[in-house]
Amino acid sequence: MTIYKNLIAGEWVGTDATKNINPSDTNEVVGLYADGSAEDTKNAIAAAKAAFPAWSRSGIWERHVILKKAGDEIMARKDELGALLAREEGKTLPEAIGETIRASQIFEFFAGEALRLAGEVIPSVRPNIGVEITRDPLGVIGIITPWNFPIAIPAWKIAPALCYGNTIVFKPAELVPGCSWAIVDILHRAGLPKGVLNLVMGRGSVVGQAMLDSPDVTGITFTGSTGTGRRVASASIEHNRKFQLEMGGKNPMVVLDDADLGVAVEAAANSGFFSTGQRCTASSRLIVTEGIHDKFVAALTEKLQTLVVDNALKSGTHIGPVVDEKQLKTDTDYIEIGKKEGAKLAFGGELVTRETPGFYLQPTLFTEATNQMRISREEIFGPVVSVIRVKDYEEALATANDTPFGLSAGIATTSLKHATHFKRNSEAGMVMVNLPTAGVDFHVPFGGRKGSSYGPREQGKYAAEFYTSVKTAYTLA
Ligand code: ADP
Repeated sequence: MTIYKNLIAGEWVGTDATKNINPSDTNEVVGLYADGSAEDTKNAIAAAKAAFPAWSRSGIWERHVILKKAGDEIMARKDELGALLAREEGKTLPEAIGETIRASQIFEFFAGEALRLAGEVIPSVRPNIGVEITRDPLGVIGIITPWNFPIAIPAWKIAPALCYGNTIVFKPAELVPGCSWAIVDILHRAGLPKGVLNLVMGRGSVVGQAMLDSPDVTGITFTGSTGTGRRVASASIEHNRKFQLEMGGKNPMVVLDDADLGVAVEAAANSGFFSTGQRCTASSRLIVTEGIHDKFVAALTEKLQTLVVDNALKSGTHIGPVVDEKQLKTDTDYIEIGKKEGAKLAFGGELVTRETPGFYLQPTLFTEATNQMRISREEIFGPVVSVIRVKDYEEALATANDTPFGLSAGIATTSLKHATHFKRNSEAGMVMVNLPTAGVDFHVPFGGRKGSSYGPREQGKYAAEFYTSVKTAYTLA
């Protein structure tokens, strides 16, 4: 089997490799991918540092052309890359193709942004002096990504980093190196100069740690668990380095008595269970007012009965497998915790077997949960959702905000008053009205508050806040 290698200083290198396994069919090896060392990481950082002076001064047309080429190739290969994504991560083929299209759109967006880079020229408060405000690239950006969006998250970090003139050392998640390798290959062939984008696949404790420990990495953008996020933060503070973190969520969806039942059920089923509940924006707390509670639970349970859990590549599958054995154990442990805590298992909770051996778990719904239970406070990251009954809107809002996290929050209501109040008073970074808490546009800011995120927003033009550093220059005329 071919080994997909790391890209360091423009050369494909590496002999050690690990298997990329398909969670829908654990007999299938998707590919062999390089297992980088701390030495490889050091070489990659050195290459990115050496490439920075030229790339930071490259013309914006060159950046535009490369980003555009990458976006076009990803779109042209959406079915093939989508299938690779579904095979390595386990989300369904339509979801995987959708994510691939989104990755392409992100490259197209930042291809456009490269041509719109601008500063400000303003008068000084002192006579005969001019003031210019410009944005400089940061330098070497360390990109560390998780497994749940194998192509979109790398795209939304790599595209702005390049657009604003930074060089990169990129470490994808161990479980899903395939899509990352593919986009690095695409960008390399699109004409990026040597060393501008370096790929080091490998373990977090080795490659990731070597990035955290290097004084030459000037910025780190991280998406992953809260625990690793904290390590990124403390190491970055030690090196006086800029960092950006996207971590967990325990996103609420409020359903009010006046909600359109069909809209509420569709939004809850999508947010809670699609992509196997493995989205940081998934709703895992459904906060439902008394008047609609029983009807809503009955309709949602009916909907869950229709959802097919099976191989991600099979047509008709709504929910693919859990990503790996470790995550499956986390999910089933939490199901046991929920039962012990006194929540009622209203649907699912069981592992299922399919034609191909994989990590298949039924969508699982708890009712009669309280917001104090561990299943309501801790991020599970699987298809496990709890329903919390509340008296009225005020209690619903207070419950929605009573969480250490603050990524996304939703409300299903036909009341303009409640929708408006919720948008204003939710403590989440993203608020959805009559829509799933997951599923966001590619051209507007993404990010959360409280324990979910740290630093500037990602995506859209707001991405410039992280990937650039502002300079103020004064000139005597
Ligand atoms: P998850 O539980 O979603 O896998 P992690 O935070 O463990 O979340 O992983 C997110 C990313 O962080 C992965 O690319 C992983 O390899 C990386 N990572 C894990 N440990 C470290 C570490 N000590 N230093 C830097 N990166 C790490």
